[in-house]
Formats: sequence, C-alpha cells, structure tokens
Amino acid sequence: MTYIGRFAPTPSGPLHLGSLVAALGSWLDARAAGGQWLLRIEDIDPPRCPAGAADTIRRQLEAFGLTWDGEVRHQRDRDTAYQTALDHLAARGMAYPCGCSRREWQGHAHYPGWCREAPRHPERSPAWRLRTDRGSRPIIWHDRLFGEQRLDPTAQGDVVLKRKEGLWAYQLAVVVDDADQGITDVVRGADLLDNTPWQRQLQDALGYPEPRYLHLPLVMGDDGQKLSKQNLAAPIPDDAETAREWLPRALALLEPGVDRPHGGPTADIDTQLCEAVARWTPTTLATAPIRAADH
Ligand code: GLU
Repeated sequence: MTYIGRFAPTPSGPLHLGSLVAALGSWLDARAAGGQWLLRIEDIDPPRCPAGAADTIRRQLEAFGLTWDGEVRHQRDRDTAYQTALDHLAARGMAYPCGCSRREWQGHAHYPGWCREAPRHPERSPAWRLRTDRGSRPIIWHDRLFGEQRLDPTAQGDVVLKRKEGLWAYQLAVVVDDADQGITDVVRGADLLDNTPWQRQLQDALGYPEPRYLHLPLVMGDDGQKLSKQNLAAPIPDDAETAREWLPRALALLEPGVDRPHGGPTADIDTQLCEAVARWTPTTLATAPIRAADH
C-alpha cells in the first residue's frame, strides 16, 4: 500500500499539546504503515504568521523526534498553483466572484449565495467562493475513526476560496497541495472534520483522488475548551531533553488504556516512538474530546 501522510501546521504560533497530538498521531500512522510523512507550512495568511514561528515548529518537531521526509513545503510559494485551480473551478462554474460584505449578510447563518448567478457589487474587488450547490450532494465519506460521514455542503455555505485582499483561503490551498504532493492519508484533529465536505467537493471538481481520512480526538484544556493558540495553550518544548519528559504525556493522550509506568527514568525519544509505532491502533481511540488534565 502506498502511504504519503503530512502534517500541515499554520505557523500562527508555536505548537502546543493539542497540535503535538495531531502531529504525533499523523507521524505514528505514517510510520506504522511504512509510509512517508511530509511537513507543509500553511503560511498563506502572513499577518497571522509571526516571523520565526515556522522555525520554532520545525525545532519542536525535531526535539520530539518527529522527522519528516524531503523538503518542507511552504504555501506562500504556491500562488500560481492555487490560481490555476481557481481558474479551473471558475471555468466550470464551481467558483464565483462575490463582493458582498459580511455586514450585508450577517442575519444569515452563512453567506446565502447572492452572487452565484451574477455579482451584486461588480464595482467592488471580489472574494471568490465555492458553489456548494453544484456537484454531487450530500457528500459521503468514510473516516477511519468517526465512521461514515454524510454532510450536505450547502448547509455550511459557499466557503471563500480567495479573499478579496488576494490571500488564498485554507480550503483551496489544502486540497491543491494534498493532491500535488500525492497525499494518500490525511490525519489531523477532529476540529477539521466538518471542513472535509468542502474539501471533498473541491477534490471532485478538480478531478483529484480522494485521500483516506483519520480525524483524531481533540485535546481540551481545564476550561473544557479545545487547546488552541487563541486560549494561549502553553508551547511545547523545543529541546530534546524536555521533550523526552513530555512525550509520554502526549502518547498517553493517543493511547488510552496503555499501561505506562509513572515517574522513574523515561526511555529516550527514539525508543518511546519505536514502541508507539509498534502499538499504533488508532481505531481504538474514543471519538470524544480528551481532557489533557486527566493524563
Ligand atoms: N493548517 C491547518 C491547521 O493548522 C491544518 C490543515 C490540515 O491538516 O488539513 O489547523
């Protein structure tokens, strides 16, 4: 079986325990399958990406022994590929320009598609949106942990593919790069489960193959919220010595029920990872969010 996986962080800050669990799960899945694991920095939104954050992420992954294959890809270099994909979608009537401002549709759950047939504000510089009402619906796909998923993408609205300032949006960039890099397996946090219908619809419209999906349970903080940069989850270390002590904690979140001695000397990183690869059975994970404090 060919396996090419990836970790695709947005460098809006250093990795925290929640993003480490996603990186670790995706790395373990790739290595257990004897596959490749690529690192892609999703830096399409420069104002959200402080200088040096991508280097910090690289150092953090290295400290935890999560080595990647080949060169690191940066999405900031991929403008031409995204534009080609958008042109293709527009030519097929799957993408349309929209100059409406958020304020104009704020009474709706999502953008109601007013510009689908013709732009309402041709004088404004437009964003580009996906026509979710075209193509097969509902979208049905299989997640290796969450099972069969079925969602009508129109229920989530015509997502933005390119912003009016000219910045690329995550949904288009991720789909173009996953296909271009030959990604066979997308392993990431369950917060992205409901983004998958848009991505499946884009893959179909662009003639790309469907990857296998595994969404990992989210890690919650003491406040019951997903650990994130927004709630200032603490950065994970970027030196190997401290990482060695942190790794059992991250592994425990991904391997509930695996008996792990507490305290005492901790094995080195490579031994810990090697054992975890041998044990890796993601389908035994619970789908419910994991409380970091319980581990
Ligand atoms: N860049 C996204 C993030 O950091 C993840 C993309 C993906 O794994 O599909 O949340």
